[in-house]
Amino acid sequence: MLQLRGSTKDFHCDFIGHKMLIISDDSSLPFPLREKYAYILKENIDTNLPDGFGAYISQNASVFSTSKHKNWFHIPQYMDYMEAGDIINFKDDGSIWAIFRSNAKYNTFLLTERCNHYCLMCSQPPKSKEDSWLLERAMEAIELIPRDTVRMGFSGGEPTIYKEKLIDLVEKCRGYLPQTAIDILSNGRAFSDPEYARLLHKIDHPNCMICIPIYSDVPEIHNYVVQSEDAFDETIQGILNLKALNQKVEIRIVIHQQTIGRLVETCEYISRNLLFVDHVALMGLEITGFTRANLPDLWIDPYDYKDTLSQAVAVLNRSKINNSVYNHQLCTVNPDVEDNYVHSISDWKNEYLDECNKCSRKHECGGFFSSQILYKHSDHIKAFS
Ligand code: SF4
Repeated sequence: MLQLRGSTKDFHCDFIGHKMLIISDDSSLPFPLREKYAYILKENIDTNLPDGFGAYISQNASVFSTSKHKNWFHIPQYMDYMEAGDIINFKDDGSIWAIFRSNAKYNTFLLTERCNHYCLMCSQPPKSKEDSWLLERAMEAIELIPRDTVRMGFSGGEPTIYKEKLIDLVEKCRGYLPQTAIDILSNGRAFSDPEYARLLHKIDHPNCMICIPIYSDVPEIHNYVVQSEDAFDETIQGILNLKALNQKVEIRIVIHQQTIGRLVETCEYISRNLLFVDHVALMGLEITGFTRANLPDLWIDPYDYKDTLSQAVAVLNRSKINNSVYNHQLCTVNPDVEDNYVHSISDWKNEYLDECNKCSRKHECGGFFSSQILYKHSDHIKAFS
């Protein structure tokens, strides 16, 4: 698992607060551009560093020992994945945050840890602390992200707690990154206010998907999973309001003990009542955050529900609803869902077991979250021969 946030005691800076910079290894970068870049010195050689960069970084602190440059950071070994094109936030206390990795297929920006739900399996347990600086960093990063980025996401917490400021973020994405598809993870309740749905629609972003969880067709079960009364009705109203404006919507169902019992019925409910959604994601459990605390009430071996998963996919396929199976291992699903199977786990938290090294289909398999390897995974992992 890659550590995206770290810190160093070996640094020197002349700025107060933070500086967000793009990494470059190009010593011939035109001078006027250099202030926006951090020059990375990958080799352990003491050399004349090119002038004018916003900061200098290296894994070898000694290269800075005689440096005349004022902003330099000795990068800890666990962040040695950094490379040209990455966007890094440097702070005056020595903290370093890889906010965007150029090599990653998908980057997600956490916008807040605040939320009006308290989901049993929340991977990012809600905090009430004011954290709008996260939104500010995302706003800042958008100006630096490469224009050819295919897709990226914004998550929480609940991003809609920012109300109009979230809409401003979408507008900024449309302006700076018009070709980049964006996903916004939301419980959808804020869009039950038609005026708020209209605000988003007015931005006219060409490819903005709101990804909204529905955990059951039975309102009481959904409300129990998210630990909030009235959530189901507001979420469904939010979806209807968004789709009435032709806004893209994905429905997400996380599969666990509390949701598996009505997984097929929930897909039937979607087929009958929400046929117009753009995508349904059937997702395996990440063993982190509240999931770890609530594991006895949540865990079910994916191998034990593989037939139910096949039925759920068949229901959605019959209704011609685009759907995908996320966060599962190939040896725990039936062959009939393989057309819908997606390698979905972000590379920085994606790992495999030793068993996988002898598997002939490892290249097709999404593998595990690092947290699954650490705490809980299927008892039926078996290499394909
Ligand atoms: S053995 Fe490993 S690589 Fe092969 S399908 Fe199972 S989890 Fe995937």
